[in-house]
Amino acid sequence: MATNNGGRLIKSVTPYVTSPFGWRTLNGVRGYHLGVDYGTNGKKVPCYALENGYVVRTWQDTAGALGVDVAYPRLCYVGVYVHLDKISVTKGQNVTSETKIGTVGKTGNATGVHLHFGWYPISDINVDYANRGWTDFEAYVYPEEEKEEPVETVERKYKVGDKVVFTGTLYADSYGGGAGQSRTNLEATISKVNDKANATKPYLINDGLGWVAESDLSISSTQENVELKVGDRVKSIDYGRAAFDGSGNRARIGSVGTITKIRLEYPYPYEISDSQGVLGRYKASGLQKI
Ligand SMILES: [Zn+2]
Repeated sequence: MATNNGGRLIKSVTPYVTSPFGWRTLNGVRGYHLGVDYGTNGKKVPCYALENGYVVRTWQDTAGALGVDVAYPRLCYVGVYVHLDKISVTKGQNVTSETKIGTVGKTGNATGVHLHFGWYPISDINVDYANRGWTDFEAYVYPEEEKEEPVETVERKYKVGDKVVFTGTLYADSYGGGAGQSRTNLEATISKVNDKANATKPYLINDGLGWVAESDLSISSTQENVELKVGDRVKSIDYGRAAFDGSGNRARIGSVGTITKIRLEYPYPYEISDSQGVLGRYKASGLQKI
C-alpha cells in the first residue's frame, strides 16, 4: 500500500504501509492500532524528523521497544517513532527535517523490521499513552496542502463616509488594544469598514471611539456620502476650521483649496492646501466638492 506521508519519515527506501491505523486482528486478538506501520523491505534505514521541532522524550517499553516522541509545534502534533533499532537524538534536542531520529528496527513487540509511527495532538503531551488523542498520520493533511479558503466577506449596511448617529451611551473597542471608550449621543462618520464575515464590530468611527457594531448605530437623516480624494477641489461650507499639526487651529471660512492628503482613520481626514498654504486636517462634513 502506497503512503501519503510515510515518505516524509523514511527517505532512503520507499516505505509502504504494512498495517494501517485503526482496528486490526493481530495473532487472533482484535485491537486498535494506535499508529501506522511502515515497512522498509526489512532494511534498517534511517528515519527523520518531519520539520522543526523538539524531542519530548526517548524511551524503552517493558517489551524492549525503543521509541522517541518528537513535538512539531507548527503542526500542533507529536510524532512517535517506535521499534527503533537505535536512537540518534536526546531529550530536549531541537530537530529539523534533516535530523535523523534513529534507525528503523524491530525492537520490542515486532515481528519484522518496520517503523510504527504514532500521531497525537501536542496538547496531550503529558497525557498517559492510552488516553492520548491518537490519529492516523496517513490521513493527516499538511497545512501547506490545504486549499486556501477565500476570506468570506459580507455586504455591510454602512460604508465609509456614512454619517451615523447613536442616542444614549455607546461603548466601543478603542484603537490599539487600549481600554474601551464610550460616547454619549454620538454623531460621527464611518471611517473604515471591516467586511470580513466574522467581524463582530465592523465599523470604525472617525472620532477615535474605535470599532462598533452595526446594531449599535443608525444612519443619520442628514447622511452624507462625501467621497473626496487627493486632488479634489473643495470649499469649506461651515465653520472652516481645522486642526493644524503642531501649531494650533487655523480658520478658513469659505476658503477654496485642494485635498492634498487623506488619512481615513483620523477624525479630520482631509489635509487641504489653499492659497495660504497647508490648512491642516479637516472634517469631511465641512467640505463641499467643487
Ligand atoms: Zn504498529
